[in-house]
Amino acid sequence: MITLIKGSWVVGYDGERHRLITDGEVAYKDDRVIYVGRNYEGSPDNVINAKGKLVSPGLINIHAVTSICITHFRIDGIKNGGTLADRATTMQNLSNPINHLDGDDLKTSARFSMVELLKGGATTVGEITAFGTTGFQPPVEQPEEFVKVASNLGLRSYISHPYTDMKKFRNEKGETEYYHDATAGFKALDEAVKFVERHEGTHDDLIRTMLFPYMFDACSAELLKATRDKANGLDIPVHMHAAQYSGEYYETLRRYGKTPVHHLHDIGFLSEKTILTHLLFTSLNPQSQAPGLPQRDMRDIRMLAEKGATLGHTPLVWARIGLGLHSYAKFKEAGVNIGIGTDAWPMDMIMEMRSAVTTAKLMEGSRTAVTAADVFNAATLGGAKALGRNDLGRLAPGSKADIVLVNLRGFHTALVDDPIKSMVYFGNQNDVDTVIVDGKTVVENGKVPGVDLDKLVKEANAVNQQWKARYGYEYPDSFDPL
Ligand SMILES: [Zn+2]
Repeated sequence: MITLIKGSWVVGYDGERHRLITDGEVAYKDDRVIYVGRNYEGSPDNVINAKGKLVSPGLINIHAVTSICITHFRIDGIKNGGTLADRATTMQNLSNPINHLDGDDLKTSARFSMVELLKGGATTVGEITAFGTTGFQPPVEQPEEFVKVASNLGLRSYISHPYTDMKKFRNEKGETEYYHDATAGFKALDEAVKFVERHEGTHDDLIRTMLFPYMFDACSAELLKATRDKANGLDIPVHMHAAQYSGEYYETLRRYGKTPVHHLHDIGFLSEKTILTHLLFTSLNPQSQAPGLPQRDMRDIRMLAEKGATLGHTPLVWARIGLGLHSYAKFKEAGVNIGIGTDAWPMDMIMEMRSAVTTAKLMEGSRTAVTAADVFNAATLGGAKALGRNDLGRLAPGSKADIVLVNLRGFHTALVDDPIKSMVYFGNQNDVDTVIVDGKTVVENGKVPGVDLDKLVKEANAVNQQWKARYGYEYPDSFDPL
């Protein structure tokens, strides 16, 4: 079946870069784009009138939680729950892990998160779990559920069974220490590989997989090297949180005498299918200081560029706690591939692109160093490159029919001069009208066919409150109750 979309603007791809086609058209047959241009001469079975809309390649949310993660509500401070467990508690938890999300709660949580991802304009998602366990890996029930929900909703996803082999705890002196269990780590890696073998390329290739050693400082060099070898053999991406916190940066200097990026470079971990998120504490960050390291040192950034590794950039969650990337402009200039993700809420790729470009300007002190086009490229071509996909993040004959129609006739976006700028600087997820993944319409008029959104919101709120109670966090209220 051939569908023709007639838009006010189409973002096409000329083989090297995006091009804007005013009054453009896109035709797709089944799961593939067959035509991008003007005045399609074939005879379509179906026509979508997208006047007033931008026809964009589907956005790639490279790093997004696919389950409810209450820690992301700790905005504006935290009342309790911020200290590490002591050694005894940590050991007890390791032998009998507490898993925070299971059964129906897990189902609701995954459905809620993935529905928002689609409504936020993502057609492909690099999944992160909320981890939600005190063990070395979450129960496999979690990623198995993500596969079910993503394939049911029609969301193209890269899913993993994450793992670590170290656990942080607080020693008697109040300092952070790490407990290492190599056997448990390798066992978890084996289970992650089995997960890959079960699901890679399933559900008409909608579901792909990756390896996800969860956090750099909670993984030994041996586990990371083994991860690299397995990922090379399986030819799949590796995704990892790295250089997120100053504590991790200094722990790495202590452990290896090198920065996190430098260490990853030297153990051969960096490659074209390596996604490192969030890379806030590289040698370029003036807060990452240590004897012998020059200020604002570009070496980490050059290593990333040289190896073709990707920065998974999620600016909004970090800006909310007062941290920024040093710096988008320097990563870009050095040639580091950048993908954009939302991490947590809101899972709004338009707002995230806006956060990326505005925080980049702020961090660089420059009006022009990073543009709307840069962050749009990152949210499309950059994400595709990270996943090794030349059929995603672009609209050209042969590419996947992953398409987003963004309404630019809202009052707030109505004064369109340049539709990319209008969307990035003025738009939001409510402007996402239609989302097509693999040639199937999964969001129509802002609604998800087959999903009762009001009911889902009620259920998700109940899960959130319940998990919050179990987890023991309290958040400060904005105002005292009357
Ligand atoms: Zn993250």
